[in-house]
Amino acid sequence: MEQPGSRQPAPPPLDLIQDLANSFDLESGRESLVSPRDMDAFARAHGMHGTRFSSAELHDVRQFRDALRECCIAHAGHTPDPAQLSFLNDVLARVPMNVRVAPDAEPTLEAATPGTHLDALVARVQDAIYRAQVQDSWTRLKACESETCRWVYYDNSPSGRSRWCTMSVCGSRAKMRAYRARKGTSQSESPP
Ligand SMILES: [Zn+2]
Repeated sequence: MEQPGSRQPAPPPLDLIQDLANSFDLESGRESLVSPRDMDAFARAHGMHGTRFSSAELHDVRQFRDALRECCIAHAGHTPDPAQLSFLNDVLARVPMNVRVAPDAEPTLEAATPGTHLDALVARVQDAIYRAQVQDSWTRLKACESETCRWVYYDNSPSGRSRWCTMSVCGSRAKMRAYRARKGTSQSESPP
């Protein structure tokens, strides 16, 4: 998925969660997952082939996605909505996972039993969170500080303290607002 500014997309395995979280663009109100076919295309783009999501499952995916974004809001230093995190835990608990060791001894998490397409997606997300946590990259997946943006970006800054999806857009808007609030100036004036 295209990223704002000069941001690099999140590296695997977090690209899945980033793309899912950003499938709804809060700022423009654009929904990428309109029909079950959109969800099948999304799944295919992330290595899940032959899915046939139902309308009900698509509805669940959207709710799951919004709950995942809440984690990214927390990673950015804000208080997440406890109801969203509780919902997220309920969804994750639907799919019990086992650790499986690959021929090179690399461990991955797999669904304990085959389930629906939605279960398979939830399993992939669980594996992604687990691996990102091991790599210490999970908390670098953050939601933009702007409440009207909340674009999920990967913070690859050395300090890991980036706050906006792009400094040039949301960062400068926030600075402009802060400047106006301090000075009580009109929109036509520029910050120093
Ligand atoms: Zn932003």
